[in-house]
Amino acid sequence: MSLFDLTGKKALVTGASGGLGQAMAIGLAEAGADIIAVSSSEAQETVRLVRELGRNAELIAADLSNEEVLEGVVAQATEFFGGIDVLVNNAGIIRRTPAAEHSWKDWHDVVSLNLDSVFFLSQLVGKQMLERGSGKIISIASMLTYQGGINVPGYTASKHGVAGITKALANEWAGRGVQVNAIAPGYMTTNNTAPILADEARYKSITDRIPAARWGTPDDLKGPVVFLASSASDYMNGHVLNVDGGWLAR
Ligand code: NAD
Repeated sequence: MSLFDLTGKKALVTGASGGLGQAMAIGLAEAGADIIAVSSSEAQETVRLVRELGRNAELIAADLSNEEVLEGVVAQATEFFGGIDVLVNNAGIIRRTPAAEHSWKDWHDVVSLNLDSVFFLSQLVGKQMLERGSGKIISIASMLTYQGGINVPGYTASKHGVAGITKALANEWAGRGVQVNAIAPGYMTTNNTAPILADEARYKSITDRIPAARWGTPDDLKGPVVFLASSASDYMNGHVLNVDGGWLAR
């Protein structure tokens, strides 16, 4: 199992207050990593759970859609543990309004967090990884990296963009020891999908289409994120790993 061992690695996870980010932070800590939990909302619980596992954990409160904070976040994170070995770009939001009415604000709120912060955080953290000649960057994509979705055009554009950034960075950095990949979760039970979960007909029609016959849970991402953060995936570059209960195979 040493291939998957993350002992001594320092992982920065964005959007780590709950949902997929919290589960991935805990999964990485279970594999041995120390965690820097970055979030715009309370992530104290994540820090507590990581520390209960015997790992170090620190918290940074930040609105990552504000480009001006990104450099400070990376500087503070680096100061905590002396460097960042793994970056998980997970923080993301969704705005549901039909394309014909989708406002400039909704579009930009989504794109500035889901896309701009993914690129510029990867750039800032990537620079220190390139200097060191090693590092893992994992961004969270979506089924809407492949499909159009309904009433979420900004989100769809941002998640298509996540795959583009992943491939662009992998092309430049794979030969310099930095692996850049993404995870595309299927339908997972979190705040992000709460409105769909509350709509019984929509919930059922989605569940019926999932070959695994159930929605994913945040814990379903623990294995995939540990895999992509560890040396088990050292020859994977620019890959988008679907964790979707078979949704895209249908
Ligand atoms: P969530 O709403 O439970 O969690 C989102 C996290 O992002 C929270 O920690 C929140 O505090 C943080 N966040 C929101 N705005 C922020 C900001 N401006 N700055 C910093 N942090 C901010 O949602 P989730 O489902 O856990 O989503 C996590 C990621 O997974 C997102 O990128 C989302 O698009 C993606 N995703 C989710 C699903 C799903 O079915 N839930 C499917 C595919 C992809």
